[in-house]
Amino acid sequence: MTEKNDFLPISKFIRPGTVRQKTLGGVIHWTAKPMQSASDTRKYWADRENGSNGYGSAHDIVDRDGSVLHCVPSNEIAYHCGATSPIYQGSEQYYTDIARRKWPDFTLDYQHKSPNSILIGIEFEHETWEGFPTTAARASLLLLMIRYSKQYGLKAADWYRHKDIVGYKDCPHWYNLYVEDWSALLADLTKGIS
Ligand SMILES: [Zn+2]
Repeated sequence: MTEKNDFLPISKFIRPGTVRQKTLGGVIHWTAKPMQSASDTRKYWADRENGSNGYGSAHDIVDRDGSVLHCVPSNEIAYHCGATSPIYQGSEQYYTDIARRKWPDFTLDYQHKSPNSILIGIEFEHETWEGFPTTAARASLLLLMIRYSKQYGLKAADWYRHKDIVGYKDCPHWYNLYVEDWSALLADLTKGIS
């Protein structure tokens, strides 16, 4: 697995530069941009530095060839799973029931707190709108998940699809569509950390 550090600039919109006090899980995302490169995704985030396009970032991007770009140091907060809209229009609920039950301190007061404070985020690039990870991307994704699980004492059950936390986000599309593939990834993770 080839890895490169290319950290985003410190900015309140993309990288607040705050160290996470605790890490209770990880979140997997797709970039929803078929054939985009990791460096282009990083540039998309970097261009938000001044807030022109809202908040957004993640710790790592896994490219289609399996190489990994580290964009935010793994011990800092990144902006990958904060909800900006309610679950449905007019609702006061911003996060899923799962997220609210697990981390009430980071989901109920949605205007001031978000699960970004406790969750690490990994994005992967993909070839098509279905968004399946290439064999190389899946392998690197799994290696990162194993690494962070060991580092932070996480189990497979502590890993989530973005949709599991922010219900209106169909992210990562492939793993939402093919739940058996998501289960297989988590099963491989369990093997990898045992
Ligand atoms: Zn996502």
